[in-house]
Amino acid sequence: MTKINTNTEISTFVMNEFGTNCYIYKDEQTNNIIIIDPAGDMNQIIDLIRQRELNIVSVVITHGHYDHIKGLPGLVKLLPDINVVIHEDEIPLIFNDEENLSILFSDNLSKQLETLSINWMRVKDNDEFFCGTKKIRVVHTPGHTTGSICLYIKEKGFLFTGDTLFCGSVGRTDFPTGDIDLLEESIKKIFLLPMNTFFFPGHGGWCILEKEIKHNPFVRL
Ligand SMILES: [Zn+2]
Ligand SMILES: [Zn+2]
Repeated sequence: MTKINTNTEISTFVMNEFGTNCYIYKDEQTNNIIIIDPAGDMNQIIDLIRQRELNIVSVVITHGHYDHIKGLPGLVKLLPDINVVIHEDEIPLIFNDEENLSILFSDNLSKQLETLSINWMRVKDNDEFFCGTKKIRVVHTPGHTTGSICLYIKEKGFLFTGDTLFCGSVGRTDFPTGDIDLLEESIKKIFLLPMNTFFFPGHGGWCILEKEIKHNPFVRL
């Protein structure tokens, strides 16, 4: 696990064999945090959070693919009361090992999740919740999977994009529930946000939306 310090509010942990980013977003005024995509063993991260006396508001799942939720069962065992924010359309995929792709890695994520009692917080497009003083808006961006979401923190100009938009690329649509037309619509929706928005993808480094709008080779609007 590699930790990259993006700034004081966002910590990035690069996890698992796919190099999936697990983000911690911290509201500096309150020390409240959200965890975005528990992509691997969360023990060390939870230790760090406890040492720094940060308060976890919730864990958010950008989408249900194995590489993004591999650490969810372990996390819920560590913190049984934690709220798990997920788009309502993504729940069936989470509980289907062919759709969440865990079957490809000889794992059975759905079985592990079924044995746990999880506080799901089902969300849909435009729903809002708070991390301390910061309002976080759910942007439903289907296409990579049916219930993929981005998280927009308007006050900061931050957007977490999961596997929908990367720096210089977009998400694959050849996995179960993927849809290229929907992905295109979702990218268009993202590009309506302010050009100076910083976005943080599920893999690779962060970028500025303006650069993607001008240069992303997969997007011709
Ligand atoms: Zn994915
Ligand atoms: Zn991924």
